[in-house]
Amino acid sequence: MRVYLFSEGGNSFTHLKKKKMKSQTALITLIMVMSLFILLLVSCKKDTEIAPTTTPLADSDKNALLFMLEEEKLARDTYIFLWEKWSITPFTNIKSSEQSHIDALAQVLTSYGIQYTILPAGQFADSVLLNYYNQFVINGSISSANALQIGATIEDLDISALDKYTAQSTNATVINVYNSLKCGSRNHLRSFVSAIVSAGGSYAPQFISQDYYNEIISSSNEKCN
Ligand code: ZN
Ligand code: ZN
Repeated sequence: MRVYLFSEGGNSFTHLKKKKMKSQTALITLIMVMSLFILLLVSCKKDTEIAPTTTPLADSDKNALLFMLEEEKLARDTYIFLWEKWSITPFTNIKSSEQSHIDALAQVLTSYGIQYTILPAGQFADSVLLNYYNQFVINGSISSANALQIGATIEDLDISALDKYTAQSTNATVINVYNSLKCGSRNHLRSFVSAIVSAGGSYAPQFISQDYYNEIISSSNEKCN
């Protein structure tokens, strides 16, 4: 009897202890689940805070876009001038393509609320681009062969500038527009060089490397966005 009672008491003690342990385990599990839930909530909140509604445009991107806008204008204004002077094939389509390049850059600037001014034909805010234009107009008026060399020179310059600004940027929208413009410039370079070669001449790259130039010229025309 005593043994039985003792044994029973012992059992209930163990049972109680087990029950206590069980509730402790349940509490720990609950705390862990709640911590996980809170952690998830916090991390979700953090995610929405990090994800920006609009990425602000970096000053370097803004300046590069504004410069490229005038550089594309240099291409357009020069080609219109040379086309009016010589009426040769490459300038016919390419001059309107340069207008679409200007429009693409203007669209990005507008989407970021950046003010820009497109000066009348032959006028440039950037003195380097203005000097180029004046020089191109004089040299391009001498011969149609010179005009074609100027076309190739402008595309060579554009590709080099676009590569430089692409490397400086981390903005996907900006990089996309540069890539699209570069695709157009590669096609334009192929057209001008093909016309130069057909006329018995040759072109030597002045801004991009010879290897890079060879790679572009030896590949076929691309379909650009
Ligand atoms: Zn262009
Ligand atoms: Zn072009």
